[in-house]
Amino acid sequence: MRTIHHWIAGAPYEGGTEAATPVHDPATGEVSGRLARADAAVVDEAVRTAAAAQREWGATSLARRTEIMFRMRELVVRHTDDLARLVTAEHGKTLDDARGEVGRGRETLDFACGINQASKGEYTADASTGVDVHSLRQPLGVVAGITPFNFPVMVPMWMHPIAIATGNAFILKPSERDPSAANLVAELYREAGLPDGVFSVVHGDKAAVDAILDHPGIAAVSFVGSTPVARYVRERGAARGKRVQALGGANNHAIVMPDGDIEYAAAQIASGAFGSAGERCMAVPAAVAVGEAGDLLVAALRREAEQIVVGPGDRDGVAMGPVITAEARERVIRYATEAIEAGAEPVVDGRGLTVEGHEQGYFVGPTVLDRVSLDAGAYREEVFGPLLTVVRTDTFEEALALVNSSPYGNGAAIFTASGEYARRFTHEVQAGMVGVNVPIPTPVAYYSFGGWKDSLFGEHHAHGPEGVRFYTRNKVVTSRWPHVDRPVQASMSFPST
Ligand code: NAD
Repeated sequence: MRTIHHWIAGAPYEGGTEAATPVHDPATGEVSGRLARADAAVVDEAVRTAAAAQREWGATSLARRTEIMFRMRELVVRHTDDLARLVTAEHGKTLDDARGEVGRGRETLDFACGINQASKGEYTADASTGVDVHSLRQPLGVVAGITPFNFPVMVPMWMHPIAIATGNAFILKPSERDPSAANLVAELYREAGLPDGVFSVVHGDKAAVDAILDHPGIAAVSFVGSTPVARYVRERGAARGKRVQALGGANNHAIVMPDGDIEYAAAQIASGAFGSAGERCMAVPAAVAVGEAGDLLVAALRREAEQIVVGPGDRDGVAMGPVITAEARERVIRYATEAIEAGAEPVVDGRGLTVEGHEQGYFVGPTVLDRVSLDAGAYREEVFGPLLTVVRTDTFEEALALVNSSPYGNGAAIFTASGEYARRFTHEVQAGMVGVNVPIPTPVAYYSFGGWKDSLFGEHHAHGPEGVRFYTRNKVVTSRWPHVDRPVQASMSFPST
């Protein structure tokens, strides 16, 4: 049985707790490896080696740091398929989708290659007579990232390229469900020439997370995961004096106006709802059909959902893989059943789906429910599976109010041909990332990624310019170089000119 070890000081770390946590292949239900589980002692070992490495790395020139980032970028391009295969084997998403994930993650490496530009300070000459002021951004020291199962390559890549390029050492605690890609990323950093200890991986679950949150040697924590854990991480980390950005769950809506191309909207929404089996924080689990859009949209969604081929992610022609665990599958089935019992109309029902030869896999088919009650858990909560609910309203205003009543505010989209409605939507919707005729408006890496309300706890969004601010501290230097023969008189008053 394969063992997945921590990665500390530039090599697999076999000390610490016994490798006990099983890792499954969701397409077969079989155990594919055993994962080491970090306790406080393993986290402490990682922090000590990271701190020692960071002292030198933080003082390394930007030219050298970006050279390593460029090399790392090329290695990730070259190993895209290797990374994607690890993702598919442990997460279950299709290989194509996994390659796409690696590509979107690599965008942050692209951004980090230009860190010299992105982290520049400011300079003001003669702020006062003979006095100049400049600012510089300095690394925090050792920082950590705690990441979810649904993007085992991309979400950590929102963090480590920027943290490292700005001069920090980074410790990753990936999801225990699909941990292997993190170790390959560690190997690639070593091959790129990153000094040992600047990038480390500690595996595990809550015990590892708590050890990270409590460790005084860690200055900042980036978290991405579900809302209850995000809130907990933010509160516990902040109570220990850390800088914390904690991105939480989501329940993204797409409004469909009757004026637009309904077939186009349905195809886009189906890809948002069923891509990656609905396990994306920017998925579209709720469609809000306005007025006459309703019947046309539901008919088009039926056609879209029925043609999706479900199966193991590494098989050609498959468009949707399994969900991550047997519990996740049961959860989707339970939410769908409860909604139907409360009056929702099943348009496409994927609850009974089995995949031949993969009967033990965690498969559930695309499911579309129409006229779902606003009280149903399937509509109100984050189901995180291939379940699309359709609710209907008479007006744009009602639809917008519905979107804004969600406690989450990650993404939101509108499908319309009307510039007026599109503009009103983008200005009035309560969400951090907004799409116009785009179902999953995930920002490119040189913007930042983040939601509002219960989708993000903290002051900074992830990656892009906000990532640079998060992983650095600002310092402002005020200097004066008086003439040696004409000393400046000290004054007891605040200088005003
Ligand atoms: P999760 O919250 O269960 O786990 C995330 C991380 O927290 C993992 O590393 C896990 O080991 C750790 N963890 C889990 N329970 C913990 C606990 N009780 N105490 C301390 N640490 C704990 O999330 P998940 O199921 O892996 O991922 C899916 C969730 O992530 C969804 O809610 C999804 O919306 C969210 N997500 C959000 C974004 C975003 O950008 N906002 C992006 C991706 C995923």
